[in-house]
Amino acid sequence: MSIVVVGSVAFDTVQTPFGRAEAIVGGSATYFSLAASQFTAVNVVAVVGEDFGERELAVFGGKQIDLGGLERAPGKTFRWGGEYSYDLNSRETLFTELNVFETFQPKLPPSYRQTDILFLGNIHPSIQLQVLEQVESRRLVAIDTMNLWIETTPAELRAVLKRVDIVLINDSEARELAREFNLMRAARAIQAMGPRLLVIKRGENGVLLFNEEHVFVAPAYPLETVFDPTGAGDTFAGGFLGYLAQGQALDDEGLRRAIVFGSALGSFCVEDFGTRRLEKLTRDEVVDRYRRFKRLTHFEDIEPGE
Ligand code: AMP
Repeated sequence: MSIVVVGSVAFDTVQTPFGRAEAIVGGSATYFSLAASQFTAVNVVAVVGEDFGERELAVFGGKQIDLGGLERAPGKTFRWGGEYSYDLNSRETLFTELNVFETFQPKLPPSYRQTDILFLGNIHPSIQLQVLEQVESRRLVAIDTMNLWIETTPAELRAVLKRVDIVLINDSEARELAREFNLMRAARAIQAMGPRLLVIKRGENGVLLFNEEHVFVAPAYPLETVFDPTGAGDTFAGGFLGYLAQGQALDDEGLRRAIVFGSALGSFCVEDFGTRRLEKLTRDEVVDRYRRFKRLTHFEDIEPGE
């Protein structure tokens, strides 16, 4: 089974109340692939500049991550800076330097065109469409998007939504896309635009999964140390889809387990700056946290009359 991710590989500068990290390796495809590679082989489609050297590539080293679709273009790598206050749920973008990302035209290597799962990270919807055109067969397509595309390219985004199975977005984006404040109603409105499944990420408040009939809720794992929330959403997506790419059925039970694996991976991501925690994460730690999630949320039914 295989998974293809199209997204950003970046240099991030991150300021949180607990410290600062300058020009560390980040990007949606980076976080996604580190998480998904816990479960399955990952094929990365992204672009970097000439400033992205061996030291940076080492972040992906020793993992089942194929960089055959990582293009090296003349110029500088995409750079992003963000700052968090004590409310780690909201952040301010300090700068976005697109650099080589500005003219990025993703090209899937021939061996990537038949894939089990395709994840289109948060990029321009018309580029997401271009990638979809290149895929010859797939079981599942999932996308992320953001307020910028909802506001500036609504028609292109609608065209993408008609062709995908799963959308992963945060709660404010869901409300904006559906033009509906109530999240339950917003979810149904988004599903009516095309996707069968919808995942709404709510940061410290956990995540909601909507399929045709059911809603499933998972909390965020209660942690004593949270250093840097950057990448948690993409890491969640990597854990969620990576688990499904192992050949899991897309039924309610399989999807629930995938949501918990996604939440487990996201919880590791925020424990240290950048990709540091994910780089050294072991399979045993992932399984242990999955089981802790089960204990955390399990409760017994009541007896009649109780
Ligand atoms: P998340 O915290 O999951 O939303 O993802 C944060 C990551 O997204 C950072 O590592 C950034 O490098 C990357 N990022 C931020 N803005 C953009 C953008 N406009 N396009 C692509 N990637 C971005």
